[in-house]
Amino acid sequence: AKSRGRNTYQFFEPVLSAGVLQRLVMENALRGAMERNELLLHYQPQVDLGSGGICAAEALLRWRSAELGLVSPADFIPVAEEMGLIISIGEWVLRTACAQNKAWQDAGLPPIRVAVNVSALQVLAGTLPGIVAETLRDTGLDPRYLELELTESVMIREVEATLSQVIELKRLGVTISLDDFGTGYSSLGYLSRFPLDRLKIDQGFVRNITTEPKNAAIARATVALSQGLGMVVIAEGVETEGQLRYLHSIGCEEIQGYLFSRPVPPEELAVMVGQGKAL
Ligand code: C2E
Ligand code: CA
Ligand code: CA
Ligand code: CA
Repeated sequence: AKSRGRNTYQFFEPVLSAGVLQRLVMENALRGAMERNELLLHYQPQVDLGSGGICAAEALLRWRSAELGLVSPADFIPVAEEMGLIISIGEWVLRTACAQNKAWQDAGLPPIRVAVNVSALQVLAGTLPGIVAETLRDTGLDPRYLELELTESVMIREVEATLSQVIELKRLGVTISLDDFGTGYSSLGYLSRFPLDRLKIDQGFVRNITTEPKNAAIARATVALSQGLGMVVIAEGVETEGQLRYLHSIGCEEIQGYLFSRPVPPEELAVMVGQGKAL
């Protein structure tokens, strides 16, 4: 309280609210996280229901902050995007995942794809095809073992710029999947325009698939749509046998989820792939 003359006092809110303070602490900690080697990748297997074997692994970013402990990507990626840090973090993820996959193959493991999440901002920056080409060259990974996971938002915001980059990426020989399908955007026009290889049914639809007829209907329609457009369909967030059975029955070809495995450190993923761990 600040005195303004004799009997009048004016009260101020604290300069920083708890939320703002928390945010500043995270921004500061995030700034040097990459240099301090606090970022790492875990890998979650994607399973082909035809063979029952692991066909790919999605690289999922983890941040072990000295100050904040383990921070969820759902919390820090939006902050990294606002700070502009997602560009350099995204390059690190791409390079680390490609180098890891090449190392697995060099060690004699059966080859699998590695799927890397790409922020819309990385696409909007316009430099992604060049960075991917350089990363493939430097790591020596065969492009067909790299998949990029894009979300719908970027295909709707900057259609032409995104389309030309996706075409360039496809020319390099990598595959493209559409992540979180069905969340947020309802325009389907872009689906036939973009050369997509795979469509991921969002876990929000998978969660209640056996109890909620509307979710089941959306999943069925998504499978039919993918097949009609020549794309492979994969469901994420599969946790139960019941979900697996239903997805299999409607023609879903691949699954990813805790039922098979959580995201694991690279050493554990290598063991699963090496053992030919199957459903
Ligand atoms: P996403 O791309 O949709 O990834 C799937 C998320 O679902 C992951 O959360 C994964 O751990 C979780 N998950 C997998 N199986 C199951 C399951 O059976 N049940 C449930 N309840 N969850 C499951 P995670 O690792 O916390 O990542 C959250 C999000 O952060 C990702 O969602 C993605 O949007 C983003 N993200 C993660 N890594 C990166 C990255 O390297 N770059 C970018 N741009 N975003 C990333
Ligand atoms: Ca993803
Ligand atoms: Ca997803
Ligand atoms: Ca998601």
